[in-house]
Amino acid sequence: MPRGILERLADGPVLGDGGYLLELEKRGYVQAGPFTPEVVVEHPDALAQLHREFLRAGAEVLQTMTFYASDDKLATVGMEGTVDEINRNAVRIAREVASEGDALVAGNLSLTWAYDPGETGSPDHVRGLFDRQLQDQLSAGPPDFWIGETFSFLGEALLFVERAKATGLPVMVTMSFETLPAKAYEGDSPGQAAKKLADAGADIVGVNCLNGPAQQLPIAREMVGAVRGSVPIAAQPVAYATSNEEPDFTAGDAFPFALTPMTLARGELARFAADAREGGIGYIGSCCGAVAEHVRAMAKVLGKLPEQEREWRSSSGKAMSAYEYHEHTETEV
Ligand SMILES: [Zn+2]
Repeated sequence: MPRGILERLADGPVLGDGGYLLELEKRGYVQAGPFTPEVVVEHPDALAQLHREFLRAGAEVLQTMTFYASDDKLATVGMEGTVDEINRNAVRIAREVASEGDALVAGNLSLTWAYDPGETGSPDHVRGLFDRQLQDQLSAGPPDFWIGETFSFLGEALLFVERAKATGLPVMVTMSFETLPAKAYEGDSPGQAAKKLADAGADIVGVNCLNGPAQQLPIAREMVGAVRGSVPIAAQPVAYATSNEEPDFTAGDAFPFALTPMTLARGELARFAADAREGGIGYIGSCCGAVAEHVRAMAKVLGKLPEQEREWRSSSGKAMSAYEYHEHTETEV
């Protein structure tokens, strides 16, 4: 029996994986716009390959590719009725690759776009959407723990915690913040949101997506202060440059087709990983735009690189690559 997420976090930081949907879109397997996860049934090999890249890079958790895999979202691309198959397959694919190493599988759920606190039937409708994904993933696995992510409504995040806790598996939940100063749609600060989620029974709480490391780290640190060690804090920023004026990478004109020039160098994510560890953040990962090079750089900083690099030198003492010729050395950026 592999050690679970909470045991691992008790020993020190755990390294998460990177972003799936945007990378698979770039590779031609996901449609920009709806960003639904039919790749799970249409091109399972492409998904397995990306999981494997993150595993080789040092990720200790692989998230199932089930972001937006709820019935309502799949219906927008005419794939209503595939929700069970997509959720089950995604767990099987992640587990198969995770077992090639020592990684855990996190069953992923996300915002549903169906939550409306002003509508009487909305909470129960969202409960139903969550339950179906949770049950599907349990029946194909189970995963090792749950990650519910990208919630802007604290109320929707709390519903996720309620339903996921009922399965008996550990629950991680992360909010996403569109503006600074960061607030949930209901007005709660990151610290207040983290406290309420922890009080509701979440085992790990935090923040993910939308913001680059520079904007997200202070949010995560505020959460660390608010929960006072009662639960580990998670941070999974995007690998795009954002700013205090525009802290959400999806808000500008570059989303989703012109993001490449905004992509951060791997060293920026390495620096984030070091700063996050220093700041007491336990679950350190990345989100949209983060690919294997980013995860590997974070793994190096956190001392988790799984594969030793080959020793190399020129026996003549003369440069035998441009790297040596220009006297480059590995730096953080
Ligand atoms: Zn993201």
